[in-house]
Amino acid sequence: MPEPAPQLDVSGLRLAGRRVVVVGGAAAALGAVTRLLAARASVEVYAPRVVDSLLDLAERGLVTWHAREAGADDLERAWLLVAATDDAADDAAALASADAAEVLSALASTAARAEQVGAAPNAGVGSVTLVGGGPGDPGLLTVAGRAALMSADVVVTDRLAPLEVLADLRPDVEVIDVAKIPRGAFTSQERINEILLEQARAGRRVVRFKGGDPFVFGRGMEEVLACREAGVPVDVVPGVTSAVAGPALAGVPVTHRGVVQGFAVVSGHVPPGDPRGTVDWASLGASGVTLVVLMGVATLPAIAAALLDSGRDGDTPVAVVMDAGLPSHRSVRTSLSRAAAGDLPGASSPAVTVVGDVAGFLPEAETDAEADA
Ligand code: SAH
Repeated sequence: MPEPAPQLDVSGLRLAGRRVVVVGGAAAALGAVTRLLAARASVEVYAPRVVDSLLDLAERGLVTWHAREAGADDLERAWLLVAATDDAADDAAALASADAAEVLSALASTAARAEQVGAAPNAGVGSVTLVGGGPGDPGLLTVAGRAALMSADVVVTDRLAPLEVLADLRPDVEVIDVAKIPRGAFTSQERINEILLEQARAGRRVVRFKGGDPFVFGRGMEEVLACREAGVPVDVVPGVTSAVAGPALAGVPVTHRGVVQGFAVVSGHVPPGDPRGTVDWASLGASGVTLVVLMGVATLPAIAAALLDSGRDGDTPVAVVMDAGLPSHRSVRTSLSRAAAGDLPGASSPAVTVVGDVAGFLPEAETDAEADA
């Protein structure tokens, strides 16, 4: 099958730092918004409501969301307007407003998708493919993962998948956002499973698009089991996990000959000592392998303290790698004792934290985003 025309092609446009107005906040706008972010545009979304993955981008400070319709004044100083609503009339109105303001415009033709909702493209039961999307850079999505996306009828996406790829889907593909924001908005896992089954039973090829690898804290197996129990064909395309790729993108190897012979990946979503936790932090602290902690920014001081208690050296380097694979990528380095004291300048989610001598490969000074901006 030939590759479809991109939804929004901004290649060659000099958008860095330039104000781009996106009209529309539905799931179908996710591809356009993230593609504009990849071009380093200053993105302002105008929509009374946005899907959770867009809300997440706004809360992480990557886009500005105005919870209202765009007015004529909002187009002042804009270089480009992108119409990305799920309604053809609204898209047309947005494009007309750009013309009136003499602002360049583009249509990320999402309304066509909305019109397809409810149509059953294939007879009989469809299928579900879990696709691990890698940490966020579309270049780190596997060839098999991309092929599955390009032949999907519907894509059910998480917020940490490489959303920019959604801008390349065929215009008739429906995108459903089921983001789970830590301590914020979320779609329950039960509801996500239901959506997958409903869509597959309507005869569609469903891609469940996830960040990293589907089976690394991705609840992927729960979705596989739900499909199997319902008799829906299901398969998995593994992904590049942020646990390994995040550090690598910051120049930190998780193993290094003569330094460390292994690594352990653990979730830090509950701190040491919490009754909900099952991780033996004392054994990990004494293990001598590199520790890679996911979902552990808020709990890092407590984790660092537990590792110190179990005998890890306070000078052990700690690297916190944030937004790996995204234009907003940055990383900070500290030590175990400073981390235990809460000295983590600029650390924010999502981040992969590396504890161990290999973290010393990250330079002490702030890196990445600042350096190459
Ligand atoms: N299945 C995913 C992990 C899901 S848990 C994987 O294999 O990568 C979500 C956690 O993954 C986040 O809290 C963060 O710790 C990590 N993460 C995912 N994407 C990331 C990114 N681009 N940069 C840094 N950390 C990331």
